[in-house]
Amino acid sequence: MDALLEVREVSKTFGGVVANRAISISVPRGGVVGLIGPNGSGKTTLFSSIVGFHTVDSGRIAFEGRDVTRLRVDAIARLGLIRTFQQSRVYRGMDCMRNMLVSAQPVRDSFGAMFQRFPPGLGERTEALLDFVGLHAKRHLRAGTLSFGQQKLLEFAMALMREPKLLLLDEPTAGINPTLINALVDRLHRANTELGITLLVIEHNMRVIMDLADYVYCLAHGELLAAGAPREVQNDRRVIDAYLGAH
Ligand code: ADP
Ligand code: MG
Repeated sequence: MDALLEVREVSKTFGGVVANRAISISVPRGGVVGLIGPNGSGKTTLFSSIVGFHTVDSGRIAFEGRDVTRLRVDAIARLGLIRTFQQSRVYRGMDCMRNMLVSAQPVRDSFGAMFQRFPPGLGERTEALLDFVGLHAKRHLRAGTLSFGQQKLLEFAMALMREPKLLLLDEPTAGINPTLINALVDRLHRANTELGITLLVIEHNMRVIMDLADYVYCLAHGELLAAGAPREVQNDRRVIDAYLGAH
């Protein structure tokens, strides 16, 4: 098995709250893995642990076979492990081009093979990626003037500027209208198949998970509740009960 990311028995508490308890997940290179679970089940916390945003209490995280458990955010990002946030993080006062250029820092030393289809020059690569997400015509508009869904597409393009090998997406379709959801899902799929980017996606929209993911993990109350093929997990009694119990 060629696991790009291995999370082993990772635990994280905040004061008295156990946000993650001995979570183990594995993301194969080239795959699309979904992470689901009711609000407060520990999904975002797990992302934050993986990207080095906070230190875990115990457990181990390996990326490309290398122990990254104690590395900080920038060092992990340089290895090609990038996350996006639940809330949009675009710079509203800057135009799309500028947002993209700001995101290009820090770039990895060598351009990954997957990106050779894009021009090596930063300006050209910026335009190519804006075109990829369908925002090329809006490249000189301030990000704050874009719809929320378009801002999410821009944010996705900004993450691509950083040449991820593994992209962690935190609820990418939340708050977006159905048309833009389809556009975003299509681009996520193409990022995986055409650019070779491995995806780990937190998502509440079950249709999106069914369309995208090869494998799904479900958290509940900070613990791993179920794992398997999307349809298996969707029909798992424990998963259904966890969602019903949460509302
Ligand atoms: P999810 O993303 O699945 O909705 P989170 O990982 O955001 O869940 O939260 C899991 C639990 O950890 C919640 O009870 C939340 O209140 C708590 N939590 C998350 N981050 C922090 C923090 N920085 N400080 C204190 N508690 C936190
Ligand atoms: Mg969350």
